[in-house]
Amino acid sequence: MNTIFKEIEQERLKQDAKWGIQNHSPVEWVSILTEEVGEVSKEALEAHFRGAKTCTVELKNYREELIQVAAVAVAMIECLDRNNCSDMVYTEDSNGKSMYCTEMCKE
Ligand SMILES: [Mg+2]
Repeated sequence: MNTIFKEIEQERLKQDAKWGIQNHSPVEWVSILTEEVGEVSKEALEAHFRGAKTCTVELKNYREELIQVAAVAVAMIECLDRNNCSDMVYTEDSNGKSMYCTEMCKE
């Protein structure tokens, strides 16, 4: 299991290198997470039908997408903790953007 956690950590570092530190509202995060879950579904479906033709199922891409899902979930938790979002309060920032944590709006 430590190998899996290492892979998730490496994926988290890749995400930060690509996108920088991400602070999103919960609704935005869930959209990002479900987009990644959709990619898992796509890989599972494609592997299934490729396997039906060749009698082998290649799950490398499916596994990679699962690591990305786990890494996004970790990033979601990191964002909550970074922004002291234990007390969820609905408010808006100066641009009228919906936020769910008053601490996030202070940036
Ligand atoms: Mg993905």
